[in-house]
Amino acid sequence: MPELPPPSTADKRSARVILNRLKKRYPTMGTALDYGSPYELLVSTVLSAQTTDENVNRVTPVLFERWPTAHDLAAANPSDVEEVVFSTGFYRQKTKSIISLAQDLVDRYDGEVPRSLDEMVKLRGVGRKTASVVLAEAWGDPAIAVDTHVKRVTNRLGMTASTDPVGIEMELRALFPKSEWAGISMRVIQFGRDVCDAKKPRCWECPLADRCAYPDKSQAPQ
Ligand code: SF4
Repeated sequence: MPELPPPSTADKRSARVILNRLKKRYPTMGTALDYGSPYELLVSTVLSAQTTDENVNRVTPVLFERWPTAHDLAAANPSDVEEVVFSTGFYRQKTKSIISLAQDLVDRYDGEVPRSLDEMVKLRGVGRKTASVVLAEAWGDPAIAVDTHVKRVTNRLGMTASTDPVGIEMELRALFPKSEWAGISMRVIQFGRDVCDAKKPRCWECPLADRCAYPDKSQAPQ
């Protein structure tokens, strides 16, 4: 990836204003996934693709009761796992993913989740977004997960011109001090769900409207 020019002082200042307003709206933010360990969060995050966190939270108590460690899940019978994760959708693929992930954890890290982005993304089924969620949420480590909400909201706010998730991540890293990285994604994601909707953004009640370059700001319904 080509080196990006550093953001201007004005861009950094504007980014700080945006984050401060999001912090005011969401003073504490964390994943809605229930988990008791980095292993549980990693598996839950993989299961959360294409479904809601609530759906995942309904199945994970049974999943982690039956297969409490990566060693247990690595040795699980796939059809038993499929039955448990069925309601999260794409259950065959998800079963394959979490069992292979558990096998990689056992083979390479004695069943523990490595506390490193570079190591985590080498696990089967784990991309940068999932790894960043786990690092930021489980350990509070500096990491910025870029999902569809983060991509949309940061583009509309003019914080990035990139459409590539890694490019967006790098631009956001450059805009904020490292100490803020872990608190960015979940707030932006929630804001994207609550206000800056993909199809109908609620611009009339948006606390960031004066900072937003989006040309198609929507009006309040009459
Ligand atoms: S003004 Fe509208 S488009 Fe811009 S951030 Fe707010 S809700 Fe999103």
